[in-house]
Amino acid sequence: MEIKKVIEVLDEACHSRQSRDIDEQEAIEEAIDYLRKIENGEYVKVVNAEWQRESSLTNYKCSNCGLRTWDKTNYCFMCGAKMSAEKRSE
Ligand SMILES: [Zn+2]
Repeated sequence: MEIKKVIEVLDEACHSRQSRDIDEQEAIEEAIDYLRKIENGEYVKVVNAEWQRESSLTNYKCSNCGLRTWDKTNYCFMCGAKMSAEKRSE
């Protein structure tokens, strides 16, 4: 189901019953709010990646976009991927 359709269905459900519990009503309206923001592109899907140690070099490579850097940041500054903690090879 597309987000647009989900919003439509929730919106309709939200206004179809008058006796609805006020918390339930608020929860649905809040959910619609978030979904509209997702639809408008205000939230971007997080890409997970990791810094890969290159054996021949002393720097790291982003597993998502291949950017090479000396600096292991929490996010890749080229593609914006969220970097997971370094895996230890034990
Ligand atoms: Zn990257």
